Amino acid sequence: MTRQRTIALDLDSVLADVMLIWLEEYNLKFNTSIKKQDLFQWHLHNMLPLTEKYAQDLFTHVWKKRWKDIPPTNGDISMVTNLLQKAGFRISIITKRDRATMSFVAQWLDLYNIYFNDVIFIFDNTSKTCYPFFLLVDDSPINAVEVFYPRRIVIFDQPWNKVLTNYPRIRKLNELFFYLT
Ligand SMILES: [Mg+2]
Repeated sequence: MTRQRTIALDLDSVLADVMLIWLEEYNLKFNTSIKKQDLFQWHLHNMLPLTEKYAQDLFTHVWKKRWKDIPPTNGDISMVTNLLQKAGFRISIITKRDRATMSFVAQWLDLYNIYFNDVIFIFDNTSKTCYPFFLLVDDSPINAVEVFYPRRIVIFDQPWNKVLTNYPRIRKLNELFFYLT
């Protein structure tokens, strides 16, 4: 029952445009001028001279020290999440991350007045598909291929997921209504 009405929303790069700040920090440290649209690979360590651990540590640093600077992917996401709830859907925010960032995520969701019914923090390698939802909005090519019919995946457009050509794709969260009718 719950599963049928629950929309799962990823946090990073779906609600929070975190890579903009990640790149600010990266560019400052390495004196580069990489832009988000240059990030054509999901695995940053395959395209930038850094390790996977460094990329992850910088990500954690951004959430701990610069969470207030992380912009939403669009100015209307508070309204859109509110409208989704009013339309009768539950909203689960499902996010895989370092535990140290948990409280900052909670504050960010409050700061931007995001409407949701629960937040699921995943600290291990458990798949998001272990949790109840009928539709997942995610930017990760890894997560996308784990969702099977009758459950649905909608890709949130980012430079690193262009490889996913045969999936429904939205550029802004409000385009989700198109897939719910
Ligand atoms: Mg994400």
